[in-house]
Amino acid sequence: MSDSSPQFDVFSPSYLEARAKFCEATTRAGWEHSGYPTGETGPDGTPLTLDVASCGDPDAKRVLLVSSGLHGVEGYFGSALQIAALQNWAPETTLPPQTRIVFLHGLNPYGFAWIRRVDSHNIDPNRNFLLPEDSFDRPAPRYRRYDRFLNPNRPPAPFDTFRWIGAAALLILGPKRLAQAIAAGQHEYPDGLFFGGQDYGPTQTLYAAHWKNWVGDDTQVLHIDFHTGLGKSATWKLLLDTQLTDAELKRLQEWFGEGSVARGDPEVTYETSGSIGRWCRSSHSGRYVYVCAEFGTFDALSVLSALRSENQAHRYCQPDEPAWKHAKSRLKEIFCPASPVWRGKVLDEGTGLIRQAVDGYLPQGF
Ligand SMILES: [Zn+2]
Repeated sequence: MSDSSPQFDVFSPSYLEARAKFCEATTRAGWEHSGYPTGETGPDGTPLTLDVASCGDPDAKRVLLVSSGLHGVEGYFGSALQIAALQNWAPETTLPPQTRIVFLHGLNPYGFAWIRRVDSHNIDPNRNFLLPEDSFDRPAPRYRRYDRFLNPNRPPAPFDTFRWIGAAALLILGPKRLAQAIAAGQHEYPDGLFFGGQDYGPTQTLYAAHWKNWVGDDTQVLHIDFHTGLGKSATWKLLLDTQLTDAELKRLQEWFGEGSVARGDPEVTYETSGSIGRWCRSSHSGRYVYVCAEFGTFDALSVLSALRSENQAHRYCQPDEPAWKHAKSRLKEIFCPASPVWRGKVLDEGTGLIRQAVDGYLPQGF
């Protein structure tokens, strides 16, 4: 452990508190801190910031990048892991030569603060990282069929039939086809779910502007990006959004375990466009391996139902209305359950995963 000073609860009820704890844990661990204001504000008017903590050689040839909160509300979980990892960090730790660790806290601070999965433009940031050769002008014929059902033009109803209809659709179409039609991303309905944007949004723009400061040029990067909401409760998988080489895959399995990488499991994988990992790998001059560390919470229909209600509440209710508060707290519970058992398990597993990356990847590389 880093020292004998009292340690605080790493989970936070608000973005503001999460940010304060992250900054404090960064200082206590002896890491450097820098903040990148987004120019936006939270519900209470406070400015929002993407925070970065780092340690090691600034000119490192090998970088471990650990990020959280790309999907705003999922930051309540990712922040807790990063804070716990910093609390467990012994300041006297020496990293292997020419290596560096960088933590990005709250990649999408707007969604984190406003309890949304998306950013201030209703953009799902992990569908917005299109490559230069990709077009934003993409019809979404599969999503179009479900938009009225997924995105009703009214406040959320107290008793919703969504789960029943959704369960029927799941039975008829199967999880893979339904996920592909809905969650894979769409660029046609700006108010809808899983909207990938019609241009680069604020999260992508801020990330692209500063990314090189964090990973350098011609470096080797392992990027672990923490997410929740897919898979069995309190279990995790590493999801890939690009084709890795056999050697890269073998290394990941050595460091994180044989069954750690999800390959074609319909419960946890579907093809997306505009994912951050694909953009990073293709834009980096060195070797870049991105894994989405996805931790399960609730079943897919509960997740979809909560996303749908929150979108309705965000569009049609005011923050002081009970329907708003209910939809927001339900979304938070869906992506960061309050259950002490769930929290204890994901903290152990998530900090273990970071530790495995530090011990396996940093000295060895791909
Ligand atoms: Zn996510």
